[in-house]
Amino acid sequence: MEGKVVAVTGGASGIGRATATRLAREGARVAVVDLDEAMGSEVVAEIDRAGGVAAFHRVDVTSGGELTACFAAIARDWGRIDGLHNNAGINGPTAKIEDYDEQEFDRVIAVNLRAVWLGMKYVVPHLQAAGGGAIVNTASTASHVAYPGMSGYNASKHAVLGVTKSAALECAQWGIRVNCICPAAIDTPMLQDTGRRINPSDPSVARKMFESQMPLGRLGEPEEVAAVVAFLLSDRAAYITGSAYLVDGGMLARP
Ligand code: NAD
Repeated sequence: MEGKVVAVTGGASGIGRATATRLAREGARVAVVDLDEAMGSEVVAEIDRAGGVAAFHRVDVTSGGELTACFAAIARDWGRIDGLHNNAGINGPTAKIEDYDEQEFDRVIAVNLRAVWLGMKYVVPHLQAAGGGAIVNTASTASHVAYPGMSGYNASKHAVLGVTKSAALECAQWGIRVNCICPAAIDTPMLQDTGRRINPSDPSVARKMFESQMPLGRLGEPEEVAAVVAFLLSDRAAYITGSAYLVDGGMLARP
């Protein structure tokens, strides 16, 4: 990734944080794009201490205006943009469809789907200007199968798969590759939150349940997802576009 400039949305935590630190270790200049300024600045400080180059941008990814300004600032400061990890996301509620709040549904779609589309829409001109580039969207195993009680999340992640393929076809002529990753249960604050919701008095019950569903017998680590994202953003993946990479410990291979 030496010499490349990459933005990572949701870079303050979990999978995005692991991607940001990994890309910086590989030599990229990394823009950590997130709502959470305290955690985002911590990630930048960590990269800095390790000898890498990073900057924090406080952005609500549901705002096209904020994303446009952020990408313009990155291009102004570092001269170009070569890649985007479109990764910020939320769980939304766990509720049956008849109890699922309308506003919460809109919010999940806004963050998990519309913002992914906005990220691509506003970064593509920068990648064109750079002569090509790569985008990795964070989808999910919920892009392929459904989890009861998560209709908003499932809908948003299925759609991320579709919008990834659309963008891949449109952008191929510019030398811009667009792929997505589909993680299963990865040990991040989001998953810990899910565990607390499933069993508030003992979140370890949910963790054991997730572990038991994984053929590899454990949760995934954010760094294990970051390794795939870094590969897809790099020139090593030069012939890969429009693909969805499962990072799921074998979960979807089960009958
Ligand atoms: P996380 O909660 O640890 O990190 C998500 C980050 O996104 C946070 O830093 C948060 O501040 C940021 N964010 C949320 N809304 C934002 C907004 N509107 N604007 C800017 N930033 C915003 O979660 P994670 O587990 O690392 O999840 C990252 C992505 O991976 C999400 O898209 C999630 O759906 C997906 N995913 C996670 C898992 C898992 O098991 N953890 C599995 C499959 C897919």
